[in-house]
Amino acid sequence: MDERKLLIKENLKKIMASLPDGVTLLGASKTVPAEYINFAADCGLKVIGENRVNELLSKYDDIDKEKLEIHFIGQLQTNKVKYIIDKVSLIHSVDSLRLAEEISRRAVAKGLLMPVLVEINIGGEESKGGILPEEAEAFIKKISLLEGIRVEGIMAIPPKCDEEHKNIEIYQKLSKIFIDIKAQNVDNVNMRILSVGMSGDWETAVEHGSNMVRIGSGIFGSRIYN
Ligand SMILES: *Cc1c(COP(=O)(O)O)cnc(C)c1O
Repeated sequence: MDERKLLIKENLKKIMASLPDGVTLLGASKTVPAEYINFAADCGLKVIGENRVNELLSKYDDIDKEKLEIHFIGQLQTNKVKYIIDKVSLIHSVDSLRLAEEISRRAVAKGLLMPVLVEINIGGEESKGGILPEEAEAFIKKISLLEGIRVEGIMAIPPKCDEEHKNIEIYQKLSKIFIDIKAQNVDNVNMRILSVGMSGDWETAVEHGSNMVRIGSGIFGSRIYN
């Protein structure tokens, strides 16, 4: 077996053994060829997430869709929604009303109900997309009125941080937003997914309530960009 496959198999075995029940493992598969994605599926991976529309489309036919659910986790341009609307089962990265409206429009046209997560800019970073924490509730209530989409939770990419204590506050803040909105039982909102945690921080994220971790290099090895 080639070395990368051995690595994927070992990585998945370790992660799946330490992931608590109820936490979904998503393999962040950007740059990873379909052959290795499908191998990961043979090893038990059930969900992958792609970041770029063009890359997703180029790999789509070769991905083993019997075994894998495909999510979209990257920044999504409004004009590309139409290409993925019937190919993914969850969009993690709704970060504007315009995008939500376009997903709604395209879903309705296809007769679909599209599950989405709202991306929260939990660190309030200017360089990152996402809804500011203080605006999350109002935003979710607003898009919950759109046809063809259903809010299923929130997603975030916490800022990189060396001071562990400060970062824990970030995870706590995120979990509080999730719990508070869930408690309100907003119509057409089913707050069930808190998507946070990547290769470097998933254990901390899970300790603080994450129930969907998106792991890329920790499964597939370091990314080779070309
Ligand atoms: C690439 C990516 C990940 C995974 O990152 P790793 O550090 O390789 O685990 C998770 N979420 C998003 C949105 C990503 O783009």
